[in-house]
Amino acid sequence: MIDGIANISVQELRGVGPKLASMLADYGVHNVEDLLFHLPLRYQDRTRVTPIAAAREGNDVVIEGDVRAADIVFGRRRSLVARIQDGSGTLTLRFFHFSAAQKTSLQTGSRLRCFGQVRRGGSGLEMYHPEYRVLQDEKVAVEEALTPIYPTTAGISQNQWRKLCKQALTRLHKEDVDELLPLSDTYPYELTKALQYLHSPPPDAAQESLRDGTHPAQLRLALEELVAHNLSLHRLRERQQEEGAPALPFSESVLATFFADLPFTPTKAQLRVLQEIAIDLAKPVPMLRLLQGDVGSGKTLVAAGAALQAINNGYQVAIMAPTEILAEQHWRNFYQWFEPLDITMEWLSGRTKGNKRISALGRIACSDASLVIGTHALFQDDVAFGCLGLVIVDEQHRFGVHQRLALTKKAAPQLGRAHQLVMTATPIPRTLSMVAYADLDCSVIDELPPGRAPVTTTLIDSNRREEVVTRVAAACRDGRQAYWVCTLIEENDVLQAQAAEATAAELREGLPNLAIGLIHGRLKPMEKASIMAAFKNGELALLVATTVIEVGVDVPNASLMIIENPERLGLAQLHQLRGRVGRGEQASHCVLLYQTPLSANGKQRLAVMRESSDGFYIAEKDLALRGPGEVLGTRQTGLMEFRVASLPTHSHLLDTVQSIANTIRECYPERTDPLIHRWAGSGQQFAKV
Ligand code: ADP
Ligand code: MG
Repeated sequence: MIDGIANISVQELRGVGPKLASMLADYGVHNVEDLLFHLPLRYQDRTRVTPIAAAREGNDVVIEGDVRAADIVFGRRRSLVARIQDGSGTLTLRFFHFSAAQKTSLQTGSRLRCFGQVRRGGSGLEMYHPEYRVLQDEKVAVEEALTPIYPTTAGISQNQWRKLCKQALTRLHKEDVDELLPLSDTYPYELTKALQYLHSPPPDAAQESLRDGTHPAQLRLALEELVAHNLSLHRLRERQQEEGAPALPFSESVLATFFADLPFTPTKAQLRVLQEIAIDLAKPVPMLRLLQGDVGSGKTLVAAGAALQAINNGYQVAIMAPTEILAEQHWRNFYQWFEPLDITMEWLSGRTKGNKRISALGRIACSDASLVIGTHALFQDDVAFGCLGLVIVDEQHRFGVHQRLALTKKAAPQLGRAHQLVMTATPIPRTLSMVAYADLDCSVIDELPPGRAPVTTTLIDSNRREEVVTRVAAACRDGRQAYWVCTLIEENDVLQAQAAEATAAELREGLPNLAIGLIHGRLKPMEKASIMAAFKNGELALLVATTVIEVGVDVPNASLMIIENPERLGLAQLHQLRGRVGRGEQASHCVLLYQTPLSANGKQRLAVMRESSDGFYIAEKDLALRGPGEVLGTRQTGLMEFRVASLPTHSHLLDTVQSIANTIRECYPERTDPLIHRWAGSGQQFAKV
């Protein structure tokens, strides 16, 4: 297939010299097809003149009128102010920077056409720094299409983009752009037509649907972009699979021995998921599996079963957690389970230093350590494994794709890649995981261990804080244990610690007879461990904490949680926090002590928390209320930066996306490269993974 448009270099277009060509190339735009897929972010309507009386605050409009007065005003800032009038009303133009020539052109009596955003100011409707031209007697036509605003980079102006894209459209009339999707009758929108429309929408275009991203032309392109993204993730996966992995056959008896010593019976969901993993591990291709399970669903046990399978085959296992507290919690669990089985364990965190670190690295490198537990420190360059067979990443959304891939490459090269199990207690909405994790197989633990009493959630205005303190104190005196969580928006350890310290001091002063502990991220690991131990064995009744306790902390007797300023946190994070209670048989309570006034969005979000304890439902709501970047965490937003596609707006396309991507893989594999190339450009976007 010779693609006409893709063979025309941008250098053949008018106005493109070597300098612009190289700037465009840096931006991933080499040819006319690249230009056509450089799509506008939004549009301005300069196709009609709006009567001043009909201009609405906040809108970008063209107005036309006569200058009635123009003066330099010396207020807080010197400015040029002109009043213009049409038959319907008057409007004030304000310029804070202006030239002498501008002052002259804005004389009383001049006729102007202006374009700008309408604001409400001291003197009624105003425009700041509008674009304008002085009209002589001639009739000046308005624009014939909506004006596109392109994403751009320093050095390339909107005007340049517009001129280039206009030329690209002319070429599109003569030569076709390759249709790469096998579209059915259910999706008939033509690619050429879609491109034409989006670069130059007619004046009567449905501007609202363009703004929302729901116009059929946008849907057509979003569909293609999502298909390209899906293909690129699958290819990434295929490449990993080509590297091979050690086959780790399953042993029924080893697992049975392990289960026999547990104080509980695994749930059906845990067993099902363990079986899915066991089948993967037995194959000579790397497992890539995402394990989702709500807070408290017992993912650790599943991780242990998987680890056992690898270790039983003579391979090493690495478990990586995002925080030291969580890694320590894993250490304690695994130590208790694996020590009796004579499995050697090693600890590695950022705080493992000096000789300790050297000897730890030694034991990891020569395979003396079968199970290595730690934090980010595990994927540092100088950490080498003798025979790494399985990597388990907990709370995967806190690590970037690169970080988890780096760890699986740490097996000796002749062994191929390590198997990978990524676990998350922040349920990822199906819509999002279909896109962000199309390269992963997915297992879900959809059942909590028996006997868990649900957590009741109450919203209380923070001006009733005293009342809450009194009730917490009473509950603690009755033998209950409680968390008091202080939140800050900043992910700043120092500030968070200070806030928690202040709260703890205040509570201690008000409740001198209560044993109150304090835990935050600035404490030394030993200090944290001893405070957690004191809380766990009941020496402390109330634990004041920062969000460090969000993940992993497991104290079944704690049945009460107060969260201050919950409106500052995302729903997923609140759900995680709340998951620290409701782990025992006692009925548990969570109090969201919010600050007024709450925004409408804030009210809605907290209401979701009160109504539901289903992590998946909460995650879907979170996605709808905050968007995918926030939900996935900043580190992964790069993955979700599409040109046209956006979630959840285009979620309904995802089933079609998957079936089209499958068809391409099966019937038209030769289209994969051009599609990925078309949408990933020079690789600044999703192909980078
Ligand atoms: P999460 O999925 O949030 O990581 P954990 O693995 O920490 O959950 O498990 C939460 C608690 O439930 C732990 O105390 C664990 O020992 C316990 N647990 C796990 N599986 C079961 C089970 N099948 N029956 C009873 N308790 C279980
Ligand atoms: Mg866990």
